[in-house]
Amino acid sequence: MDYEMTSKQRVLAALELKEPDRVPVGSFATHVAGKLCGISIREFATDSRKMATAQRCLYEKAFFDLLFPFSHVGMYAEGWGSKVKFVDAEVSPPISEFAVKKAEAWKDLEPFEPEKVQGARVCIDALKILKDELGDKAFLLGVVFCPMTSATHVAPMADVLKQVRRKPELLSIGLKVITESLIRLSKAFIAAGADGIFFAVTRATGEILTKDQYNEIARPWDEKVLREINVPVILHCCGRDPHLDLIAEFPNIQGLNWWDRGTQWSLKDAKGQLGKSHCLVAGIDQTRSILMGTPDDVKSEAKDAIEQAGRDGGLILFSGCDLPINAPLENVRAIAEAAKLYGTYPIGL
Ligand SMILES: [Zn+2]
Repeated sequence: MDYEMTSKQRVLAALELKEPDRVPVGSFATHVAGKLCGISIREFATDSRKMATAQRCLYEKAFFDLLFPFSHVGMYAEGWGSKVKFVDAEVSPPISEFAVKKAEAWKDLEPFEPEKVQGARVCIDALKILKDELGDKAFLLGVVFCPMTSATHVAPMADVLKQVRRKPELLSIGLKVITESLIRLSKAFIAAGADGIFFAVTRATGEILTKDQYNEIARPWDEKVLREINVPVILHCCGRDPHLDLIAEFPNIQGLNWWDRGTQWSLKDAKGQLGKSHCLVAGIDQTRSILMGTPDDVKSEAKDAIEQAGRDGGLILFSGCDLPINAPLENVRAIAEAAKLYGTYPIGL
C-alpha cells in the first residue's frame, strides 16, 4: 500500500505519541551503511559526502525513516585532545590516546569549536548534505554523547570511575568544559539540519554507575545540555542494567532507546511504565537476529516488538546499539518490511 506521510512526519508523530501511518524504523547504523554501498570505514568517517551517501542508501534501499550521520565514539573527543587510530578495515577506529592522563589535567581542558574538530565537522557537513538532498523527507539525527560518556572518551573509563568516588571536584571541572562544548555541538547539528538529537547516556547503567552516583555527578550536566536543545531528543542507554526510569525524568526528551532484548526492561514493561509519556525506540536485537538470523527472523522479532508496544503509536523500531558492519542488507531491509506488514495503523495484530 502507499503511505501518505513522509519519513519525518512519521517519526514526529511517533515521538508525539500519536499514531503515524505505520511504525517508523531506523537504527544506530553507521559503518554498516557504508558497507551496504561500498564505502570503507575510513571514507565514511572522514568524508562527509560519503557519509551522507551511505546514510541516504539506508533511506533508499532499507527504507529507514531516521538517518544517523555519525561514525565512531572518538570523533568528537579529538576536539579535547584525544586521538583515534584507524586499525582495521572492518573495525570502528578506537581511541588510541586519551587527552587526560591524570585527574589534575582536567583543569587544562578547554571547550572546542565544533567546526574546528575534524570528526564533528564531517557529521555537521553530512547533515547539511542530507538536508540539501532530502529536504524534509527523512528525519535526520545529530548524535551527541552526554558529558559523562564524553569524559570517558577524554580519560580512560577506569580513571573516570575512580574519580567519581575519589576526586569528583576535579572531574567536575572537566565535565563543565565538556558540557559547554556539547551545547555548541548540539546547536551546530541543529543549525546544519538535524531534526532531532540522539543523546547517548551510556554510563547511566548499573554495571557502570549506581543511580545515586549518576544523579549526583552526571545528571546535572546532562540536563544542562538538554535544556539548550530545541528539537526532539532520543536518549540512548545500551548497558545491561539501564537506569531507564531515571533517565526518563530528564527534561526535554521524547524518546527512549535501549537494548530491550538484552536487559530486564522489555518493551512491554516499558510501554506500561513509561509509554504514556515517552516514545519507545527499540525492538531489534543488534547482537543476534540482524547479524546471524534470516530476514524472517528479523521480521518475527519486529512483529513481536509491535505486539508488545506498537498499539496507539509511540513506537519506533530501532536497534539497541550499533548495527554490526556485517549485518546483511536483506536483514536490514527486513525491519521496514515488517513495519509495513505488521505495523500499519490502526494495528490489527
Ligand atoms: Zn550504545
